[in-house]
Amino acid sequence: QSALPGGDTIFGKILRKEIPAKFVYEDDQCVAFHDVNPQAPTHILVIPRKPIAQLSKASDEDEQLLGHLMIAARKIAAQEGLGESGFRIVINDGKNGAQSVYHLHLHILGGRQMRWPPG
Ligand code: 5GP
Repeated sequence: QSALPGGDTIFGKILRKEIPAKFVYEDDQCVAFHDVNPQAPTHILVIPRKPIAQLSKASDEDEQLLGHLMIAARKIAAQEGLGESGFRIVINDGKNGAQSVYHLHLHILGGRQMRWPPG
């Protein structure tokens, strides 16, 4: 694993402000920014500062951090005006989960009616 904080992914570079992103939230454990290819009127990614590659690689020691990400997602959803209309949280894991960036991230999707089951 990279010694750089944020790890060696595109999200690590965003975290370190080496490439730009439209940030909407930052705290000591995570940051959030708009997805570059939005799948809904609001599409925000929440990533931990700790470079965990994917949910299935998280350890028991990450319990507090994973809870923190969920609470941050709730705050960001409210901040972005999704508190009443509702929203969807997605974590893609690995190949079958269609994960493409191997730095753990929560998708917050909102602003339109979602369907279930997903494709
Ligand atoms: P995944 O498929 O891994 O769950 O989702 C990765 C997400 O990251 C995709 O929705 C993709 O559009 C987004 N993404 C990839 N590269 C960049 C980037 O450079 N900047 C931003 N803001 N989003 C990105």
